[in-house]
Amino acid sequence: MKLCRFDDNRLGVVSDDQVHDVTDVLAGLPAMQYPYPMFDALIASLPDLRGEIERLAKSARAVPLASCRLLSPVANPGKIVAAPVNYQKHLQEVRKDANLHHGNMINEIERAGLFLKATSSLVGQADGVHLVHTDRRNDHEVELAVVIGKRAKNVTREAALSYVAGYCIGLDITIRGPEERSFRKSPDSYTVLGPWLVTADELPDPSSLDLSIDVSGAARQRSNTSDLILDVPALIAFASSFYTLNPGDILLTGTPEGVGPIEPGDVMTATIQRIGTMNVAVSAA
Ligand code: MN
Repeated sequence: MKLCRFDDNRLGVVSDDQVHDVTDVLAGLPAMQYPYPMFDALIASLPDLRGEIERLAKSARAVPLASCRLLSPVANPGKIVAAPVNYQKHLQEVRKDANLHHGNMINEIERAGLFLKATSSLVGQADGVHLVHTDRRNDHEVELAVVIGKRAKNVTREAALSYVAGYCIGLDITIRGPEERSFRKSPDSYTVLGPWLVTADELPDPSSLDLSIDVSGAARQRSNTSDLILDVPALIAFASSFYTLNPGDILLTGTPEGVGPIEPGDVMTATIQRIGTMNVAVSAA
């Protein structure tokens, strides 16, 4: 199933070029009171709501996908975990280019570990990316994004994929420079998630997916998730040995070689096999 959040926080099931509006299912979410949970309530309840979503989708009002403003498929992630330099050729390009490494020691991911992006940086395709500090180099990074489905702590590699709710395309927008990654990668709109969530039952094996990004029609990144240094199960095991992962937490799996600058006026077209394509406009904040 492809689940999207669109327009005024509506929930939809995408099939071909139509979106079936299943917003009514949100009434079945558990009632909440302060303090609110630090995870995404919809993703946490997906296993319980799945049947009702499928039932509603059959009779739901359908609207053309092209007319929908697609928002981040996850509304309230507790955290956004990201992998640095998780493709060998990207590690090589960063180490070779001072405009990329800025004098920082670039370690292999096993030594560098993971990092966090601010949840306030998260947007969907329709929001677009709004660049700050346009005098500096702002880069695109296309990445397979994993959405965690249930609480995960010290998960084994073998069990890891059973903790996944689904997959999206992720863009990890990055200001190049000497500062900490979390600082350079966390301005508002610097994490794009979309265009929808493909549930894990529809994509049981993320280990061999083509991914790509074009910027204003020019090819930039072309790779396959089979080139990941730490693959999805290994990343979940690694992350959950430090953090407790909760439903709706987003794991950005790292970007391949070919990173490059974006400017106001550009349009990024990102594609991941079996997920889809999203077009994201770039402007100045
Ligand atoms: Mn990245």
